[in-house]
Amino acid sequence: MRYLPLAFDLLDRPCLLVGGGGIATRKARLLHKAGARLLVAAPEVGEELLELVRESGGRWLSERYEPRHLDGVDLVVAATSDSSVNAAVSADARVRHLPVNVVDSPELCTFTFPAIVERGPLAIGISSGGGAPVLARRIRAQLEALLSPAVGVVAELAASTREQVKAALPEPVRRDFWRWVFSGPVARKVEAGQVQQARAELLHSLGEWQGSPEPRGEVYLVGGGPGDSDLLTFRALRLMQEADVVLYDRLVSPAVLELVRRDAERIYVGKQKQFHAVPQEDINQRLVDLARQGNKVLRLKGGDPFIFGRGGEEIDRLADAGIPFQVVPGITAASGCASYAGIPLTHRDHAQSVRFITGHLKDGILALPWGELATPGQTLVFYMGLTGIETICRELIDHGLSKKTPAALVEKGTTPDQRVVVGDLETLPGLAEREKIEAPALSIIGGVVSLRDKLSWFRR
Ligand code: SAH
Repeated sequence: MRYLPLAFDLLDRPCLLVGGGGIATRKARLLHKAGARLLVAAPEVGEELLELVRESGGRWLSERYEPRHLDGVDLVVAATSDSSVNAAVSADARVRHLPVNVVDSPELCTFTFPAIVERGPLAIGISSGGGAPVLARRIRAQLEALLSPAVGVVAELAASTREQVKAALPEPVRRDFWRWVFSGPVARKVEAGQVQQARAELLHSLGEWQGSPEPRGEVYLVGGGPGDSDLLTFRALRLMQEADVVLYDRLVSPAVLELVRRDAERIYVGKQKQFHAVPQEDINQRLVDLARQGNKVLRLKGGDPFIFGRGGEEIDRLADAGIPFQVVPGITAASGCASYAGIPLTHRDHAQSVRFITGHLKDGILALPWGELATPGQTLVFYMGLTGIETICRELIDHGLSKKTPAALVEKGTTPDQRVVVGDLETLPGLAEREKIEAPALSIIGGVVSLRDKLSWFRR
């Protein structure tokens, strides 16, 4: 992000607009909407602009721009067709540390106007930093279509009752109340045009909520998928936006973490390079404690929480403690890596079943039913199997699979750093070493791997 979008309070503040033509008028409309007092420096101005100046309680300075026009103003916009005048306004304003915008000259600006979506008091600014205004406008059009006009009315209703709600409810109950207002019957009544009834419902419910100020803690056990944030479910995203605190581990990608509510407290519970992970029992206890304090606790995991994720143990503990929870499935690494590597996990000609297996070594040993695994016609997916890749390949060969059985390793699957190495049971361990494959990595073994050449599509 090169430009920080800010929301300016311009109510009754004097703003200087240099220029009297069509472009100046467009900027004047915006400034007037925000309640600014318009001072316009231009020898001539159009009728609409003059009217805006009058309505705003400002003044038309019926002369060419002079540096003294900058005295006492809060903000400056230059919109003349004379580039030397525009440049002079910019230079003078900068000397005085006044925020200045010069239309169509990003290099002369200290701020730019974003594309704006407006719904009552709600304003969404989309800024491309002046670099791609057409893209910003396109996104504005998409948002316009997405947000009903009622959103603005809801925002007005919230603004007009905000102090009352604040006085009645403490945090985190208050946040819960607002969530209920924006998603429940109050918002629905506004959508239906029944604004008075909506207000009555809000105030009535406020009384009820005040009567039971018990914080309602809850835990969301959410699968964050293998890395690409585009693979999150809608429900995962919604709960990520509602969380007060998030506990996440190493496999949660930065792109996914970026989508958690910004104000949520973030607690890392994964492994640090030379340290051990937070013990599972401590995590379980922390979930219980945080929920008891009334928090919406997001337990965010890589992939799917129920596949080699110890999600079962965590909710077992929550169930014992009587804490409400919900589980949101995620795309597991096997599905994500297979799709993005162009390897179908099953295929009529190659594999009638697929097995997800942990390749985690315990005391250097991998005790698995090798005889069962070494049967053709199935796809084997080993999670946590990078350190043990040599053992895995050797055991499968020793138990009867052909040395030439195709095998692949997918590193950091679905992320921009994804790498795939393909070989067979004999060559894969050597390839992994030569290519310096690192965790997280997943191995896929079976005839389906041979389809990759033709079906691979993901390139970044
Ligand atoms: N619950 C997770 C798995 C946790 S076990 C899930 O459903 O995906 C951790 C293992 O998952 C890693 O050792 C690796 O084998 C695999 N893994 C997770 N994310 C991965 C990724 N983006 N690319 C490759 N392997 C991944």
